Amino acid sequence: MLLLILGFARPVFPQDAKEFANAAFLKKLNNDKSFSELKSKIVSEFAHTPAGRWGEFVNGVDEKIVTQKKIIAFTFDACGGKNGNGYDKELLDYLHKEKVPATLFVTGKWIDAQFPVFLVLSHDTLFEIENHGLKHKPCSINGESAYRIHGTANIEEAFDEIEANARKIEAITNHRPRFYRSATAYIDEACVRMASRLEITAVSYQIASGDAVPFAPEQVIEENVLRNIKPGALVIMHFNHPEWYTKEAMEKIVPKLRQMGYTFVRLKDYELTSVKSH
Ligand SMILES: [Zn+2]
Repeated sequence: MLLLILGFARPVFPQDAKEFANAAFLKKLNNDKSFSELKSKIVSEFAHTPAGRWGEFVNGVDEKIVTQKKIIAFTFDACGGKNGNGYDKELLDYLHKEKVPATLFVTGKWIDAQFPVFLVLSHDTLFEIENHGLKHKPCSINGESAYRIHGTANIEEAFDEIEANARKIEAITNHRPRFYRSATAYIDEACVRMASRLEITAVSYQIASGDAVPFAPEQVIEENVLRNIKPGALVIMHFNHPEWYTKEAMEKIVPKLRQMGYTFVRLKDYELTSVKSH
């Protein structure tokens, strides 16, 4: 009886990081029929699909919210990997204190490095967790690269990058991500279609904050955002580098945008579209 009760009393959110670590989780997925059968199906469906354009704003990628109202979405990536495994706690504390909703794009690698933090963030209703890829490889069906980061080499790897991380996030949080931002935001059109086939929308951004530019001071980040602000914009920033000036810039940006009449939203609550002028 006691065992039965304990069985039911297991936490809704599993706490064991090891079983979700990229290598172990991918191995488990490959033994899972629903994953491996879908993978074979997608690989054959895309076998003769041309890669199409390679870039940040290719066909099918969304960059803004459909709206005329003064709302914008702050989106923050956590890339993971060497030099990318950090956590900008002060930034997230600031967003929380100011009640600024945000969309957080995380990789499988970053989840592995920051598992307890990830659990806390995924419970926080102010934040929406979305997919930044399993291994932070720009999504390509033929091995393109961006900023010297090697992309996925083929359809199989591209599938894992998108779908395995979606399943990993879902397994940990009970929520399947709806949006995918490829590592570096570079993606080919075949990957965009593959994501869509998996009921995931590939997104890029409309406003580059430039927080990732080496030594970008807070004034520059602030200017990049305020100068380009427009209704519905997706702003791209990072929350995995506490040594960058993202938080300091946000402390300036948020009150100024509020003064201008802007409010802040998460992607999942709105319809997205593309900016055709790119
Ligand atoms: Zn990234």
